[in-house]
Amino acid sequence: MNQEQLISRAQHLCEQRGLRFTAIRQQVFRLLAQHGNAISAYELLDQLRLTEPGAKPPTIYRALDFLLEQGFAHKVESLNAYIFCCHFDHAHPMQLLICDGCGNVVELHDSAIDRAFLEQARLHGFTITNKTIEAHGQCAQCAPTQGNHNEG
Ligand SMILES: [Zn+2]
Ligand SMILES: [Zn+2]
Repeated sequence: MNQEQLISRAQHLCEQRGLRFTAIRQQVFRLLAQHGNAISAYELLDQLRLTEPGAKPPTIYRALDFLLEQGFAHKVESLNAYIFCCHFDHAHPMQLLICDGCGNVVELHDSAIDRAFLEQARLHGFTITNKTIEAHGQCAQCAPTQGNHNEG
């Protein structure tokens, strides 16, 4: 799906929810989608300022809050950064694999992990209101080679 299709789907969802997909919100949405990987609020602000010179930190945080609430983006808590979510049209469980080498973030949607986690919490009489499942390591591209010439 290209960016214009993503934008029009997001626009449609906002209309259904009775929300305004303002120009600034759309721009931050585009910047996140273009970037692909995790990006901090300040990096986003720098990019936003290329087209919106008057943008200030609250501008970006308000736009990000909106995108997070609508499921268009996720926060990567351990990096204090944000990623675009292209599965925004449905609620989904989320686990993140974060590469410390290249910064690539893989979003997993495993409902079995989610259920096991909720079940363990329940066994402890714990009510989860907010959860983060993030793992750091190295992606396939960054992992050290095994030295056995089995590349590819
Ligand atoms: Zn997602
Ligand atoms: Zn990597």
